[in-house]
Amino acid sequence: MYCNFINGEWLAGLDASTNINPSDTRDVIGHYARASQSQARMAFAAASHALPIWSGRGPQQRSDALDVIGSEILARLDELADLLAREEGKALADARGEVLRAGQIFKFFAGECLRQPGEVMASTRPGMTVEVTREPIGVVSVITPWNFPLAIPAWKIAPALAYGNTVVFKPAELVTGCAWALAEIIARAGLPNGAFNLVMGSSREIGSVLLEDPRLSAITFTGSEGTGRKVAQAAVGRSGGMARFQLEMGGKNPLVVLDDADLDVAVACALDGAYHATGQRCTASSRLIVTDNMHDRFVAAMLDRLPELKVGDARSPGTRIGPVVDAEQLAQDVAYIHQGIAEGAQLVYGGQAMPEVEGRPGHYLQPALFVGATSSMRICQEEIFGPVAAVIRVADAEEALAVANDTPFGLSAGVCTTSLKWAAMFKRELQAGMVMVNAPTAGVDPHAPFGGRKSSSYGPREQGRYAAEFFTQVKTSYIKP
Ligand code: NAD
Repeated sequence: MYCNFINGEWLAGLDASTNINPSDTRDVIGHYARASQSQARMAFAAASHALPIWSGRGPQQRSDALDVIGSEILARLDELADLLAREEGKALADARGEVLRAGQIFKFFAGECLRQPGEVMASTRPGMTVEVTREPIGVVSVITPWNFPLAIPAWKIAPALAYGNTVVFKPAELVTGCAWALAEIIARAGLPNGAFNLVMGSSREIGSVLLEDPRLSAITFTGSEGTGRKVAQAAVGRSGGMARFQLEMGGKNPLVVLDDADLDVAVACALDGAYHATGQRCTASSRLIVTDNMHDRFVAAMLDRLPELKVGDARSPGTRIGPVVDAEQLAQDVAYIHQGIAEGAQLVYGGQAMPEVEGRPGHYLQPALFVGATSSMRICQEEIFGPVAAVIRVADAEEALAVANDTPFGLSAGVCTTSLKWAAMFKRELQAGMVMVNAPTAGVDPHAPFGGRKSSSYGPREQGRYAAEFFTQVKTSYIKP
């Protein structure tokens, strides 16, 4: 059994969850200990005790530790990508990209440990100097979803540790294999006991401790909007003081294709954005908004290329679309496909669940394409989180922009055009945290700020040097010699 890591020790829990391969449900990846509430509290006690020790270590020591972690992730790229594909169902090429990104993030923050500038200001008062410095916030609760089982933990844990905080990490139950592998690497990187803790388990059992323990100072959360609201309420309503919180939640990202787009580029962006990683990305483009003169050519080209997206075992060579993560998510995807048909959209490709592929029982789903969709349909408003996209036909660029912004979410948005004028207009007017011009809505750099607007995000950006906004607190000192 794979154990929790608390205060430098590997501890068995209440019981264990069984981790199953969604590409072949006969394949058991492992049994992972579920922590009890008292163990989760022990983790916070350990993180609190370790805080002055870890934050007291100099930036070089912290940098060295993060560099060791990043180097090991990169050195074990093949093995970790295989585990990720086996556990989450992401096709191997996508899984490799994710592992690479996780390693690069630790390397980036190893550098950031040594780049923590302050500011000196002239005072309005004679003889006074004003200094602005950044300090750790304290113990950070890290809560992550299943769809990026290495990269999202990396982009939360690496900056938390880089800026001198300590961590209690609770991964999603579906992907404890990757979480455990990451924890095992961090456990050997020379951190003091308690600076990093892994508590696996159900949110019903330990969720409230992760949100309410009096020793935590901040909660960084990525997941669904519904859970995000609970995190916010708990953080604000906590007795003994509010916790700082950061939420990254859902998306319903538009890809706009204008009349003047390069058709090959537009189709490549749509196929990647909508279907790669089985559409299970918060930045996936599930709304394809296409102007009138381009519409028929675009749909024909999509139908021509969609059969290239071979569905199969995430680890088989040639697979482009792995399975859906589990039976529950598959049922949700299929329900949305039925909903789209009932609302009057035409399903022109795929959408069939496949109980097995090449003799392997798994949660497979043919990528689905709808045409004739309208913006108000539920399939165009609600996050499906599967390989399902809908084409919305619009008259012109102005209508395309209005439809693109017609969503409660605002994470990523894309436009395909060869016109500088339209590129500039969409870049300015799209209501999203990230805008892609002639690039898929998903796929970002590890050193650039990541996050959204409206119901997609709350709080400061993640990643890159912008991560310091959340993981540090500013101190202003007035000094008179
Ligand atoms: P989820 O909200 O069900 O769970 C996310 C995490 O929160 C898990 O670790 C879960 O165990 C935990 N959790 C659930 N209830 C809790 C509670 N009451 N207290 C404490 N913890 C609790 O989300 P999911 O199904 O794992 O992930 C899919 C969602 O994540 C999608 O909506 C997707 O858009 C979103 N997501 C967003 C981003 C982004 O950066 N915006 C990135 C990836 C995924």
